[in-house]
Amino acid sequence: MVNTAAWQAISAELKDKNVILVAVSKTKPVSDIQALYDLGQRDFGENYVQELAEKQPVLPADIRWHYIGHLQSNKVKYIAPYVHMIHAVDSFKLLQEINKQAARHNRTIKVLLQLHIADEETKHGLNETGIIELLDYYEAQKAQLQNLEICGLMGMATFSDDEAKVRAEFARLHNTFKLVQQSYFMANPHFNTCSMGMSGDYKLAIEEGSTMVRIGSLLFGNR
Ligand SMILES: *Cc1c(COP(=O)(O)O)cnc(C)c1O
Repeated sequence: MVNTAAWQAISAELKDKNVILVAVSKTKPVSDIQALYDLGQRDFGENYVQELAEKQPVLPADIRWHYIGHLQSNKVKYIAPYVHMIHAVDSFKLLQEINKQAARHNRTIKVLLQLHIADEETKHGLNETGIIELLDYYEAQKAQLQNLEICGLMGMATFSDDEAKVRAEFARLHNTFKLVQQSYFMANPHFNTCSMGMSGDYKLAIEEGSTMVRIGSLLFGNR
């Protein structure tokens, strides 16, 4: 069941602050997605390829689908015809494959690079050095990578009640976002996205400079 009141409150709050709301609909039925769509929500996030491939064809074509999970290179082809933004890119190989599949469909796919900011080993992503290395590769081969647009960084904080810790992790991501923007994308208006914050920590994330939050359970209930 969709929490309509929560959607209204959160989307009004975010609009005020110019923060984009991605409604994370993984494991939830298409009827729930349609219900939020009918209220005006257009950005939805999924993190399983199979599930997204089943939902996309039966939902409105103007939904902007965000792929927010860890994506294997060999699965890019399944979502390339329609995916709007891929959030968790952490290898040059994946970047090349996204470009290749986007080109096959004559599209440009937006991507975010994932910075690892949490303690937990299970969360994917690169450290700062890895991000810089990847961007240096990208700079060198940009002419062959015209079907993707690097729009910013994404990260997930440690799942913790320790507010200071979570805040410091978001600050680290936002600092790196600013640094990368200044070093590589100064004249590029597309590099404008710092994707951080989920149901439990989105307010902190916004205080630390988030421009895009990914919220699931507050809108759709627990999974
Ligand atoms: C599931 C998920 C979310 C949403 O989590 P909630 O706590 O339900 O808001 C956000 N980002 C990523 C990458 C996710 O996998």
